Amino acid sequence: MRKPIIAGNWKMNMTPAESVVLSQGISNRYGRGGDEVDVVLFPPAIDLRSVITVLDFDRSRVEVGAQNVHWEPSGAFTGEISIPMLKDVGCTWCIVGHSERREMFGETDVQVNRKVRALVEAGMKPIVCVGESLSVREAEQAESFVCDQVRAALAGLEPEEAAACCIAYEPIWAIGTGRTATPEQAEAMAAAIRATVRDLVGDKTADGMRILYGGSMKPANAEAFLACEDIDGGLIGGAALDAEDFVDLVKTAM
Ligand code: 13P
Repeated sequence: MRKPIIAGNWKMNMTPAESVVLSQGISNRYGRGGDEVDVVLFPPAIDLRSVITVLDFDRSRVEVGAQNVHWEPSGAFTGEISIPMLKDVGCTWCIVGHSERREMFGETDVQVNRKVRALVEAGMKPIVCVGESLSVREAEQAESFVCDQVRAALAGLEPEEAAACCIAYEPIWAIGTGRTATPEQAEAMAAAIRATVRDLVGDKTADGMRILYGGSMKPANAEAFLACEDIDGGLIGGAALDAEDFVDLVKTAM
């Protein structure tokens, strides 16, 4: 009922020249793409133009998003990138609140919420990242921690606005570590997230919202996650930097 999403977060990898090679590799393997899965690439901001040019040339259905954005449309915010800039270059999606931004750059729940609201107002599609650290999981606080993050991110959104959002559950201890959550842990959290969304904005939006798993997902382990009832796709880091692995992941979701 919910269309799966396979999203590749390239993080701070790939020069503009390398980004052309990787996006061409993905496009060559995947062709124009079908309608069964939403496929989205999240290159660094400086690569957006080249990646979009490659995909447009191939008439690909693969979409492109940014890894971060500022909520103000313009102004004295040195180093930041605005939503009108992203839209102008052809981005339709944006990751918000990745744990690396929360942990290393001090991004707060309030800032995440501002970004989500600004993106939705502008007609873009946020992927809101949530996830607990190992110490929070060991203290058996993971579910309340993550559901609080969800409530904060979606605060003030009407049901139809929240419907534009996806949520990615990325346990911090599984990111880039080669250690995944078990499918049971990931499904339990995805179900808790969906219940929280149901509380906030009602059945229709909760039933339609796509919830992704992220954290060391690769072709060898993806099937078990994608088979879970409340998991509707993956946000992929390391394996998204290899065209063959990434397209294999897309095919697993079909
Ligand atoms: P890895 O797939 O490298 O663990 O990264 C996951 C992630 O953080 C995607 O946003």
